[in-house]
Amino acid sequence: MNSVQLVVVGGGPGGYAAAFLAADLGLSVALVDPEANPGGVCVYRGCIPSKALLHVANVLDEAKRAKAWGIEFGEARIDLAKLRAFKNDVVKRLTSGTGQLVKHRKVQYIQGLAAIVDPHTLRINKTGGGEESLRFDHAILATGSAPAKPAALAINDARVMDSTAALDLPDVPKSLLVVGGGYIGLELGSVYAALGSVVTIVEMAGGLLPGADRDLVDVLAKRVNRVMKSVLLNTRVIKMAAESKGIRVTLEGPSLRDDARYLLFDRVLVAVGRQPNSAIPGLDGTRVKVTERGFVHVDEQMRTDEPSIFAIGDLVGEPMLAHKASHEGRVAVEVIAGENVAFEARAIPAVVFTDPELAWCGLTETQAQKDGRKVVVAKFPWGASGRAITLDRTDGLTKLILDPDTETILGVGLVGPGAGELIAEGVLAIEMGANATDLKLSIHPHPTLTETLMESAEVFFGQATHVYRPRR
Ligand code: FAD
Ligand code: NAD
Repeated sequence: MNSVQLVVVGGGPGGYAAAFLAADLGLSVALVDPEANPGGVCVYRGCIPSKALLHVANVLDEAKRAKAWGIEFGEARIDLAKLRAFKNDVVKRLTSGTGQLVKHRKVQYIQGLAAIVDPHTLRINKTGGGEESLRFDHAILATGSAPAKPAALAINDARVMDSTAALDLPDVPKSLLVVGGGYIGLELGSVYAALGSVVTIVEMAGGLLPGADRDLVDVLAKRVNRVMKSVLLNTRVIKMAAESKGIRVTLEGPSLRDDARYLLFDRVLVAVGRQPNSAIPGLDGTRVKVTERGFVHVDEQMRTDEPSIFAIGDLVGEPMLAHKASHEGRVAVEVIAGENVAFEARAIPAVVFTDPELAWCGLTETQAQKDGRKVVVAKFPWGASGRAITLDRTDGLTKLILDPDTETILGVGLVGPGAGELIAEGVLAIEMGANATDLKLSIHPHPTLTETLMESAEVFFGQATHVYRPRR
């Protein structure tokens, strides 16, 4: 029987990062995934295709905004087939790259779905037909997650889409209902709005992106309210029915007008969260524990309760983000290779790639309030940033969450174009235990949006060059 030191089940950003590091460390490695090449949800139907489309959405929006600067392009003509081909090509380029890396690293890539026979044996149902058994010393489970489908939202009609179907860009519907004002609802809702759909968002919580700091979300919400037809908060979809002219949706919410309770949409995108893929055949025959919410239970070294089996990524818990999955994958491999390491990130960045982008890392102000933790918040409005003014984008905000006694940077929040790139500096600052003085004394290039981080630190001391806000 084929046998390896490590098998990784699932070829997403968690699984392939783990398999590649294990090969680099000299282990014999197999990677099992149903697709032709590694990539997982992130590359095939998540992060990457959505960002390709969001890039196009930004171009469309910028072109419209250019009118205010004396440049007019006229009405955009959208060639949907070409747009689809661009997005598919982006995915193909990346997945053929990961396929090459598999070969260079001599990772055994087995295309198929794995079932667990016992804590040292897998049976793989191969995509091309047939089965293969595989013995292993250690396994890393990295089977990821899939869209959640609550019963009220599960109707069998192609016009009701999950994120995968929406990324396929079947058409540009005249009207689109987005159920869920979280990451996917806002990102893909923005894409369809930019392409010309009239978009309505329904969110059951009292605000978009529950969990993120309100002052950041408020900036994004202003624009979302402008580009979407309406955003219905504290509202749920309680029923959907297919009609010949569209999907009839019944809404429930305290502030809904009677005429807004039964609406008809050409298409609906359901984006109400994701569920871990923990129904791996044979898993229940091992000592691996699965929580009530379906996450595989692991310790900080990514060990499950079965000594030979580790688990990482969306399968083990939130935040369900690609970079968290990759980092966990690398930790699991190092532990298997005998190193004394653990997953102990101080800051996992979160980025919502809307326009403006919203990003945060470390402690949020909301969390500090919940925990009753005393913090100081220093904010720098982008209206005072030279770079933001040159971009005609003064709608941003940078904030630091600091320990009042040690001045240590505990959290960073950003909203504005490019926030997703800027947040990396916050991650480094938090991981390095930097304080406000470190950030203040680091010379930042001018004119850039990075200066807003430095000037936020100056705000903390009441000495920001471009805002007058004496220290209280
Ligand atoms: P996945 O990427 O889910 O990969 C798991 C793989 O395991 C899949 O290929 C699956 O087919 C395979 N598998 C499942 N069962 C088996 C089995 N029994 N045998 C073999 N293989 C199996 N995150 C970000 O950080 N940034 C973003 O911009 C971002 N955008 C997103 C946009 C969308 C529309 C979606 C849906 C998600 C997005 N995410 C983003 C989340 C990100 O995709 C996930 O957090 C990430 O893919 C998780 O990685 P993973 O390795 O845990 O699993
Ligand atoms: P989400 O958790 O981000 O948002 C779901 C939203 O739906 C929440 O605001 C929730 O309150 C709301 N909701 C739940 N049930 C509802 C209902 N019945 N009616 C109305 N609203 C309801 O989930 P998502 O947008 O589906 O994305 C899933 C995960 O994928 C994210 O949490 C994130 O981890 C990951 N993701 C990340 C990125 C990124 O990093 N940029 C992008 C897309 C997805």
